[in-house]
Amino acid sequence: MAVLSHDIKTPLTAIQLYNSLLSEMGPEDPDRAAYHRIIDDQVAWLAHMADTVLGGAKQGNPGAGLTELLKNTACVYHRLHAGRGYSFVLEVPDHLAAVTVDRCAIERVLNNLLDNAIKYSIPHTIRIRASEEYRGLERFVAIEVTDRGRGIDRRFLGRIFEPQYRVDPNGEIAGSGLGLAIVRDIVETRGGRLEVATALGEGSTFRFLLPTAFQTQHNHAFAL
Ligand code: ADP
Repeated sequence: MAVLSHDIKTPLTAIQLYNSLLSEMGPEDPDRAAYHRIIDDQVAWLAHMADTVLGGAKQGNPGAGLTELLKNTACVYHRLHAGRGYSFVLEVPDHLAAVTVDRCAIERVLNNLLDNAIKYSIPHTIRIRASEEYRGLERFVAIEVTDRGRGIDRRFLGRIFEPQYRVDPNGEIAGSGLGLAIVRDIVETRGGRLEVATALGEGSTFRFLLPTAFQTQHNHAFAL
């Protein structure tokens, strides 16, 4: 339940926000369709979360619309947090290889990393970047979230992915210590990798690598 409540805040807030924006819009507004799509996405994501908790999770659509997902997420976060002075920059190439990871999982990871980037910083521009990357013969899509927040002391780096571990449990920032444990679990159980580069007082980059469908097909071709 703690995991569920941790993960549903952003989609619920986004649904509320886009719903109220829609109700203020004229019937011919060109943004209507995009806002409806964002609400649909967030509802699908909540349904997936409910399935996961009830043990009936299905795999989503592999690799479908990763670029669009990133654009929608950046747009949702911008809408939700621009009022507090945060902005979001997205760098994504025209074409990204299809990944084998379902979009609900990717959304969950991204939301957690973006929530942290906001939580552990004062208002500034947060960057989301996607690129393709080889590790040996394996081809991945790498997605990274870079903030210029407080950064993390190297001494604690080995522990931040543990469930319920918080660097500063008595500090003014509230949290459950579950976010990064959830992120690691999602990424690693799907054959991905999770990495962090951080400097105390300067900021952090959390990056996750998702296996691509190309790699699987390539291996099959080789095996024949
Ligand atoms: P929570 O944010 O609820 O404490 P997380 O598992 O998401 O739990 O994060 C664990 C710890 O890692 C946090 O308590 C925080 O100290 C540190 N942390 C995570 N993301 C960042 C970030 N972007 N910048 C600085 N510290 C971070």
